[in-house]
Amino acid sequence: MGCCDKNKSAVVSIATKAKHIVQGNVRALLGVKYEFTDDRIRVCQACKLRYEIVRSLWCSICKCFVPAKARVEAEDCPKGKWPARKSSQKENILRDEKK
Ligand code: SF4
Repeated sequence: MGCCDKNKSAVVSIATKAKHIVQGNVRALLGVKYEFTDDRIRVCQACKLRYEIVRSLWCSICKCFVPAKARVEAEDCPKGKWPARKSSQKENILRDEKK
């Protein structure tokens, strides 16, 4: 892989991460969640690598806002505690009753 290919793949990975951040935060704001969302959040709540800012949950490894990260199928735990979903898996959208 040449340096241009490395730069291109870094740009793609930054763009993908930015897309996930926007997607996850919009879903969290709208109260949209999937069947896997609560399971992911429960794992993060019990994780020693999480931290809280004003009662909101964050990951100290990836620096993500967990309620947003947990709503994006392609996201995974950087420590392997929960996997990304395969794009072929059909996801049922649930509404957050708290919203
Ligand atoms: S994403 Fe993984 S490492 Fe980060 S807080 Fe959740 S379980 Fe812990």
